[in-house]
Amino acid sequence: MFGRAPKKSDNTRYYEVLGVSKHASQDDLKKAYRKAAIKNHPDKGGDPEKFKELAQAYEVLSDPEKREIYDQYGEDALKEGMAGGGGGHDPFDIFSSFFGGGSGFGGGSSRGRRQRRGEDVVHPLKASLEDLYLGTTKKLSLSRNVLCSKCNGKGSKSGASMTCPGCQGTGVKVTIRQLGPSMIQQMQQHCNDCKGTGETINDKDRCPQCKGDKVVPEKKVLEVVVEKGMQNGQKITFPGEADEAPDTVTGDIVFILQQKEHPKFKRKGEDLFVEHTLSLTEALCGFQFVLTHLDGRQLLIKSNAGEVVKPDSFKAINDEGMPMYQRPFMKGKLYIHFTVDFPESLSPEQVEALQRVLPQKPASQLTEMELDECEETTLHDVNMEEEMRRKQQAQAEAYDEDEDMPSGAQRVQCAQQ
Ligand SMILES: [Zn+2]
Ligand SMILES: [Zn+2]
Repeated sequence: MFGRAPKKSDNTRYYEVLGVSKHASQDDLKKAYRKAAIKNHPDKGGDPEKFKELAQAYEVLSDPEKREIYDQYGEDALKEGMAGGGGGHDPFDIFSSFFGGGSGFGGGSSRGRRQRRGEDVVHPLKASLEDLYLGTTKKLSLSRNVLCSKCNGKGSKSGASMTCPGCQGTGVKVTIRQLGPSMIQQMQQHCNDCKGTGETINDKDRCPQCKGDKVVPEKKVLEVVVEKGMQNGQKITFPGEADEAPDTVTGDIVFILQQKEHPKFKRKGEDLFVEHTLSLTEALCGFQFVLTHLDGRQLLIKSNAGEVVKPDSFKAINDEGMPMYQRPFMKGKLYIHFTVDFPESLSPEQVEALQRVLPQKPASQLTEMELDECEETTLHDVNMEEEMRRKQQAQAEAYDEDEDMPSGAQRVQCAQQ
């Protein structure tokens, strides 16, 4: 079901794309994104690829949950259905890991022959809100490497090995590329001759079961228990279940829950939110309706006698929210957000009937004299969101023009690389 261990990926690139520090606030992010997006907009002659990259970086970093996953596990953890990892390293990756970007997972020193800690394998795991409300078990089959049982992970029949001539036993090859008159890019790549182990095995001495690879693939079914009340982004860890390798402490398989959108319920921590629209008559005279809960129970929800529900108001039902993690007998609240559907217009008869029964504002009656002193006006419809957006955009463009001079010089420099 899953591919093999994905490579642990870089978790600084998105920050670099937006040109902000790892500690940037949401406000800083938004400003940086807005500026960069205007500058790189394809309509204004910007590079569409760069623009796409900006949008992607901002989409992740502006979402606190995604940002947390990204900070800890990098881009790959956010991608769906990760296909087999490995493959071509792009220079960017190697560059950053070379400068100490990624070594978050424990510690092999390159000099000593200390036991390394294998990489953790991170998979996203989708769960519906129903799963998180009721709890569930998901069976996932995945393939992983285990030490070859025939040679005990030595790779050879005799247990002997030789130093790899391709890398002199270091496991890496270093290449240097000239990027410009005063810039050098140093790239460090795994040695392909020995797959980064620094050792090779004599052809005749190879273990027949693993062909000298020291490990063999094994299919394994994991039962992932999703407990009641688990949160989006929560980790479920299987210690020591990642790929085995010689002289290596096996890493963990970590599943990161990704809560799927629910068509009806929204979740905030332990609380649930539903939207409900009332007609004006229901809002004024009372209502009742049936709400099917996440476990299939039918809740009858009704107003109190004589109660008026105002548009955009909330009401709550205690203990009908999400169960709390590891205390599932305790539950949050279920909030109902009410929208009131007002009629578009009323007939003169309806107006007259309403005026008879509804209380009148004493000041709403003006005398002829008072009316004569006023100027007539006309009200027309507006789309407030649209108006605000247009104003903000105009402001951003003005701001951008102010800042264009100093950063222009920098751009020329970048383009030379
Ligand atoms: Zn080698
Ligand atoms: Zn073997």
